[in-house]
Formats: sequence, C-alpha cells, structure tokens
Amino acid sequence: MKQLSILGSTGSVGENTLRVVRIHPERFSVKALAVKKNIEKLYEQAVEFRPQVVCIYDPQKAHEATPKFKRLGIRVLTGDEGLAEVATLAGVQEVICAMVGAVGLKPIFAAVHAKKTVAIANKEPLVMAGKLLLEAAEKAKVAVLPIDSEHSALWQCLEKQDPSFVKKLIITSSGGPFRNKKGSLSKITPAQALNHPKWKMGPKITIDSATMMNKGLEVIEAANLFRVPASKIDVLVHPEAIVHALVEFVDGSHFAHLGVTDMRLPIQYALSYPDRLPDHLPHLDLAHLTALHFEKPDRKRFPCLDLGYTASKIGGTMPSVLNAANEIAVEAFLGGRIGFLGIPKIIEKTLRAHRIIYKPVLADIFAADAWARETAEEALPS
Ligand code: MG
Repeated sequence: MKQLSILGSTGSVGENTLRVVRIHPERFSVKALAVKKNIEKLYEQAVEFRPQVVCIYDPQKAHEATPKFKRLGIRVLTGDEGLAEVATLAGVQEVICAMVGAVGLKPIFAAVHAKKTVAIANKEPLVMAGKLLLEAAEKAKVAVLPIDSEHSALWQCLEKQDPSFVKKLIITSSGGPFRNKKGSLSKITPAQALNHPKWKMGPKITIDSATMMNKGLEVIEAANLFRVPASKIDVLVHPEAIVHALVEFVDGSHFAHLGVTDMRLPIQYALSYPDRLPDHLPHLDLAHLTALHFEKPDRKRFPCLDLGYTASKIGGTMPSVLNAANEIAVEAFLGGRIGFLGIPKIIEKTLRAHRIIYKPVLADIFAADAWARETAEEALPS
C-alpha cells in the first residue's frame, strides 16, 4: 500500500489523482490533503478518503473549518508550516504536487529533503527551480516524477536510454482554440480563450494554451527535468492530441508516446511507477483514428512560445520572471484590463527590465518572482 499526500487536492489534477486512488484502493491510500481554501470540496474528499491530516492554506478558512474536520478525527493544519508538514508526514511515500502558483515550491523541497518521491503536476516548481530541485533530489536519492502529460510521455520514451544517443525531444501542442482562426487575435475575449478544444483544465492553464505560453513553460520544464538545452527541444502542433511527445535518437529512430487525452493516465503512471496498472482507464482505438497531423507552430502569431525559449536559454532567474509576469498578465486579461495580445507585451517588458542572477539559490528565485509580479503589475494600464 502506497501512502500519499496530495497538495492541491481540489484542483483538476488533485481530483483526477483521487479518481485514480478510488479505482485502486488496494494500492493507494491518502494520508494527507492540502488545499488553498475550498473547504466544501475538501470536506467531501475527507469523508470519502479519511486522511489523517488536512491543510487549509488560508488561516481564516482553516479556523472556521476545524470543528467540522475534528468530528471526523482529522487534524487541521494551515499556512506554509501546514503545507510543509503535509509534505513531510511520516509514513508517506509519495507527494503529489498540484498546487497552483509559487506557494507549492517550498513544500516540494521539504518533501525531497524528507526523502519522499515527488510527482509534479504544476509547472511552477520545474520552471522556477527545476535545476535546484533535481540537484536536491539527487542528493537525497529520491525521484522527481512528471505528471504534465508531455513530460510523462518524454520520461517514458527516455526510460533506460543513454542520454548521449538522444538528438531531440519533441513535445506536441493541440494548438489551442485559435490555431485556425483567421485575422487578428486582438479582439479575443476571455470566454473564447477559455474554450479549449481538447483538454479540460483550470482557467490559468487554459489561457496559457491559447497563447501557447503553456508550451513555452513546458520547454523550460523539459529542459530542466531532462537536462537538455532548449535548443534540443522542439514543439510540434498536433491537433488530435494523441501523440503527447516524441524522442528522436541520433540514428534517426523516433519513439512516440500515444494515449487518450485523459490526465488520469500520466497521474496513474506517476503513482504506480515502475508498474503499469491494467484496464480501468480508456484505451486508444487506433483503427478508428483517421489521421494524425503535425505542423510547425506559428511563432509570430504566438510570441509567448519564443519568450519561453528565450527564458530557458538565458536561465538563472529568468524563467521565474517569465512565469510570474505571465501569471499577472493572464489575470489582467481575464479581468478585462488588457487584451489578448497584451499578454506577451507585458511579459516581454518585464523580461527586458530584469537583472538576471545566473546561479540563483532558492531565495533569489523567490525574490525574482516577487520583483516580476510588481514590475508586470506596474506595466498594466491603470
Ligand atoms: Mg502539458
């Protein structure tokens, strides 16, 4: 029985993780759950999965909810200390990290230092501090497992392969909702951008898919996770979203990972690794696939992709700045303060103003994150 802590259990990845646990109760049990503030959903999860502790990050909400959870015999924690405790709890073997935003970064390092396997779904930890995190994991002799579908696919294609034989990593993109849109993207509304053709995800990542910043962040994520320079990572638009990633080897062989677009698949593999669990998830029906299409992304129309490459090539604190500026710009777009094309403009302005630290420690990364949020905020129209 593998005991799990789930950071961010009420988000889309958190809920899918619990769906996987639900179909394999003989293999997995939930020891701790952490959320930002959705106490209603957390309570439902607690009734079903009976964790030992929960962490509600918002202290006010935690205070309100404590008696309710106490009646279930569950201890309630709060704040950064609470997250750290959930991430390091005795008896837990694997920590699923699915908290949106920089808040998830410290507990992941805490989990690694406590020798827990970490499975990472949200991009920030690998984008902001991927290099530091992999170094820490190497020291602690624990694994960092990707849940992001493209990275899970790359990980599976790269398994047991000699890195010196790898020529290119290729991640695919569905192209987002505006791949075929004629004319300017300047009048795109948040409602249009939130309507993703293939994946059901939270609003932030759905907007990132529409701008292709999602791929920009994924290039950084892959570069850090697999220790490959961004120049050896390609992005291909693949509207069917059946092939999630490919690895090209020096002899011209390509390995591809194919699967249905269902987040439970990469989540389940990160939980069951190195085993594969049979049957419960939907399978591909290759005979009914009419065609698979691949094309180069339109880098002029979607400048966020190149901003990701630039930040990865520069390295240091730059990826954190990109990530933070993007969060502010996406929020401003969703709030109607800037247009769709304002997103890359705000980010670029912030990147240009940044004084890079090339060999950052974690404190430098947090400082760069805070600086970028402020700077991007100032660049918004008042
Ligand atoms: Mg992805």
